[in-house]
Amino acid sequence: MAPFSFVDRHLRVRYNSKLFGWQPQWYSLGPFPRVRLEVPMATIQRRKTVTCLVGGVRVGSDAPVVVQSMTNTDTADIASTVQQTAALARAGSELVRVTVNNEEAAAAVPHIVEQLDKMGIRVPIIGDFHYNGHVLLTKYPECARDLAKYRINPGNASIGAKGDNNFRTMIEVAVKYNKPVRIGVNWGSLDSTLLTKMMDENSLLAEPKDAREVTMEAMVVSALNSAALAEKYGLRPDQIILSAKVSGVQDLIDVYRELAGRCSYPLHLGLTEAGMGAKGVVASSAAMGVVLQEGIGDTIRVSLAAEPQEEVRVAWEIVKSLGLRTRGVTVVACPTCGRLDVDNFVGIVTEIEKRLAHIQEPLHLSIMGCAVNGPGEAHDSQLGITFGRGVGMIFKDGVPMRKVAGEDIVEAFVKETEKLLAEGAAAKSEVRHELVSIT
Ligand code: SF4
Repeated sequence: MAPFSFVDRHLRVRYNSKLFGWQPQWYSLGPFPRVRLEVPMATIQRRKTVTCLVGGVRVGSDAPVVVQSMTNTDTADIASTVQQTAALARAGSELVRVTVNNEEAAAAVPHIVEQLDKMGIRVPIIGDFHYNGHVLLTKYPECARDLAKYRINPGNASIGAKGDNNFRTMIEVAVKYNKPVRIGVNWGSLDSTLLTKMMDENSLLAEPKDAREVTMEAMVVSALNSAALAEKYGLRPDQIILSAKVSGVQDLIDVYRELAGRCSYPLHLGLTEAGMGAKGVVASSAAMGVVLQEGIGDTIRVSLAAEPQEEVRVAWEIVKSLGLRTRGVTVVACPTCGRLDVDNFVGIVTEIEKRLAHIQEPLHLSIMGCAVNGPGEAHDSQLGITFGRGVGMIFKDGVPMRKVAGEDIVEAFVKETEKLLAEGAAAKSEVRHELVSIT
């Protein structure tokens, strides 16, 4: 039997079922008839929020979930910070946060923004403030003017001050320059006065809650009280984003569910101190995946002990895997098994991914090692390859196009992908996605 004779005999009969809303698809491969049910892709109903504009990027339920990141350079080192910010933007970071921890950093911000602008990099820059933000934002007005958003940690904003004077000063600067703020509570720097008060009140209850529950509630209360104060001092609700970062997966899920139910501000998601390597990636994906699936979360940052660009890549994979966003090439590759019908399968997949890494338009591709699942996956892909006895069959929209010898497959597939892009197929797919994601 010649390779791919199974495809030559590939027969499909498709019909719509108005009753059930899915499309059964009968086809035969060789002597075995099969049925494939095409279930419409599930869409996530986003939690309804106001929309916050961060330097031209919309954050909230009417906009796609925004991917952001943070530099790890010394902000005062203008050249390094510009270089890393540009790299993060190119990797897909739609907002970039820089620490503004001292006077040198505050003085550097306008130069960083100016240089990025000259390079044609338009990514909004967010300033991360702790302890001394009230001093830096007032002493360096150009920094306050050029940042697209301020991140304020209510747990350390007013340390050493009477009442909330320092927090108030920062909010007043935000009002003056018409900037949004993120009120970012972090369990590691939770407002100790608030936590102590809530622990004391809890201990007087007939049935006190456990310490974890009180801490989670204190985080929510800290975020909501600070947002109320920010509104009292003049910020509009659509200038406020909240976050409550923790380092435990279950804690993140609990705290964000609670926060989401008690306000309509957009929420920034992140598992803080997620860790290194696979552990950090898995923990971030598990935690954020659960809440994103529930429609909670309007912007995300993955925090890894890794290169910041890697954080961006992982964040994109999370939102892409949930069907919330599309960007670049998504390759579905089989895990391989004893049926594999080609040598160097991993090398072929790696090389194709590398050659197509520059593409930003969303494209769904499949590369499968044999005929068992190859045609099925190809049906759900814009372009697919299925191997059979060392020969690759290229599919377009599930329809077999041509056979290519194994050694030529990378070149042939890259060429077909570029041709597809030139035809504008990817752009049409993105339009479909955006329509789905805002419902
Ligand atoms: S597609 Fe074929 S080679 Fe790949 S995992 Fe499935 S059965 Fe194995």
